[in-house]
Order: sequence, then C-alpha cells, then structure tokens
Amino acid sequence: MGRPTRDGAGVRLTRVLTGELQQRLDPFLMLDQFDSDDPKDYGAGFPDHPHRGFETVTYMIAGRMRHRDSTGGEGLLQNGGVQWMTAGRGVIHSEMPEQEEGRMEGFQLWLNLPSQQKMCTPGYRDIQSEQIPEFTSPEGVRVRVIAGHSHGVAGAMDRPASEWPTDPLYLDLHFESTARFAQSLPATHNAFVYVYRGQLQVTNADGQGQTVGLQRMGVLHTGGDGVVLQGEAGTRALLIAGQPLGEPIAQYGPFVMNTREELMQAVHDFQSGRLGR
Ligand code: MN
Repeated sequence: MGRPTRDGAGVRLTRVLTGELQQRLDPFLMLDQFDSDDPKDYGAGFPDHPHRGFETVTYMIAGRMRHRDSTGGEGLLQNGGVQWMTAGRGVIHSEMPEQEEGRMEGFQLWLNLPSQQKMCTPGYRDIQSEQIPEFTSPEGVRVRVIAGHSHGVAGAMDRPASEWPTDPLYLDLHFESTARFAQSLPATHNAFVYVYRGQLQVTNADGQGQTVGLQRMGVLHTGGDGVVLQGEAGTRALLIAGQPLGEPIAQYGPFVMNTREELMQAVHDFQSGRLGR
C-alpha cells in the first residue's frame, strides 16, 4: 500500500514505490500517485527544483500541469499525456497546476540512468494523449503503450536497447469488460503493476497467483510465458517493467548518482548555480 506524503510546495501524494524497494525494483526509483479534486491538495505545485542522474516520467490522467525549466524550455501536460524528462547532468524546473479547480490525477515515475548516462545532456519529450499508441485486445482490454512494446505495438517512447539499457515497458491497461490480458516479460526484467481502479487477479510467470487490490502495487515474477492479468469492467492498472542496472544507488533528494562523492558534487553544482545552466 502506498504511503501518504507531501512534496514540492505541499502537494498531497501517495508514495507507492519507496526507498526500500529501489533495489528490488531496480531500475525504478520511485512512483508517486497524485489524485485529488481539492485544490488545497495540489494548488501549490512543485516550484523550481533540481534533478540529476535519472529520468522522470509524468503521466497525467486528469488535469493540466505546466512545466518550465532553467534552459527556457516549457510545455503543458494534460489529460492522458506524458512528459518524459531525462534529467541527465541537471535540470532545474517547476511543475505547476494550470487549474484552480477540478480533479488532478496522475503519476510520476523515476527511472534510473546507467552510470555512463547520468551526466548526459538533459532533454524533455512532451507526448500528447493522441500520440500514445493504443490497441484493444480481443477480450476487451484497451492498452496504452507509453514505452516499450506490447503485442507488436511500439510505444510512444521506443529507443534501441543499446542506447537505453533500462529497456522500459510502461503500459496503462483499461479493462472494458471482465477480461484477461497476457504480457510477456523478459526473465531479466523487474516488473510491477499498480492498480488505480478496481482490482486485479495476477497469474505470474511461475504460475503463482496473487490479488492486487485498489491502490496497491504487486511485484511480478517475470520470464516464462509472461504474466496474465485479469480484471473486471472499469479496472485500470499500470504495468511497468525494466532491465535492472545492478549499479550502486546513491540518492540525496532529487539527485540519484552512484557514489556519495557524486552526490556531494551535485549539491555543490546546484548551490553554486552550475546545475542546469
Ligand atoms: Mn521535478
């Protein structure tokens, strides 16, 4: 079960993936869910803050959020859209709601970068909802392929594994009737589901079953013929998988590096105004 917390200028969040799971779910560092129709929970947003050494993936289910960064980059993230940011050697940005009422619902996932890419040139991709490839399975599961491949459909983010060692899969599954959905997952990948409507029955690659309830994360057993997920009409879940890096994880807030020395350098660069310029 996720843990309630606040971050940024006081935005109410559910932290699903926390520090204790960073090793188990390598290359994923964090998953936050935000979901509120009360502007007091989200209105303050995330004013200017730095990142270095990983990628942030923001998936907006409902609401509008504007991001601005220290290089002059700017974009609007809204209903069903994704922002994929590679912080690399450093970004200072703000993520601020553009609405004063209504529902704000979505997720932010932190995906680690391999040591040789932690200091790469930062970049953003704003992916509008209509740019996310989708298909509906014969049984009635609508699949939004944000990254990776599912049933022959390439995701909005699809880089060669040689350039992107974490080889991420990011699916949003909408069950339109009682249905099963099968997904192959390489044995080497770490994988999990997060249920944000209804509940799921999971059959893992090793045949082991588990029930994953609402607002719960289920760590999946990969390999074999993959996993089978069964939901009822209205069930929605994220299915996320990636190739572990197997490198040391050193984190200090918004900086994720391999060593303490690199973290101290990040703090120093930020304090002296050299990060993100
Ligand atoms: Mn941020």
